[in-house]
Amino acid sequence: MHSGHLIVITGPSGVGKSTIVQEVLHRTNARYSVSVTTREPRPGEIDGKDYHFIDKQRFEKMIQRGELLEWAEVFGNYYGTPAKPVYEALKAGETIILEIDIQGGLQVHEKIPYATFILILPPSWDELLNRLIKRSTEPPEAIKRRFAKAKEEIELAQKSKVYDYTVINDKLENAIEDVIKIVNSVSEKTRKDN
Ligand code: 5GP
Repeated sequence: MHSGHLIVITGPSGVGKSTIVQEVLHRTNARYSVSVTTREPRPGEIDGKDYHFIDKQRFEKMIQRGELLEWAEVFGNYYGTPAKPVYEALKAGETIILEIDIQGGLQVHEKIPYATFILILPPSWDELLNRLIKRSTEPPEAIKRRFAKAKEEIELAQKSKVYDYTVINDKLENAIEDVIKIVNSVSEKTRKDN
């Protein structure tokens, strides 16, 4: 019996989903699912808070042991959601938020179809490209790769029809408020599928 709620927030790289999620976590009672990753920590990131930073060997062990709810390779690094904390939070009646990429979101849908799926989209392709350029220290080739991947992923997401809500991140504050409304309304619901 699971009485909690799982909310999967996804969208292409560069759309601003982590900024939105950080703010939503401050302003709601929802908990955050800390992913494991093989990528190097960025300056200011805290192990155990932003991610659990682990090596590839340990990541592969977690896959083999079935400890990940989903996982994906994103630009050469592995990212995954540890399953146990998610199921524990659901059992404890909590609302837990996953901020993951689109392929990961689709995997979660296969295992936990009653989760709520939110897709964050940019206001336009041009705007997404601008944001990728602005925030990146990477060479143009890498930015182009991210942009192409983002387009592909959005098309995949839209075709999949797993998304309950689409939020356009045009004005950041509006997008944050839209997501907060969804989180609050989902959290208040009594799950009918228990
Ligand atoms: P970053 O390296 O910028 O923190 O994240 C890169 C991408 O990986 C983002 O789109 C982020 O949402 C995604 N990501 C972070 N954690 C996970 C995870 O546990 N699983 C999956 N599938 N994607 C993740």
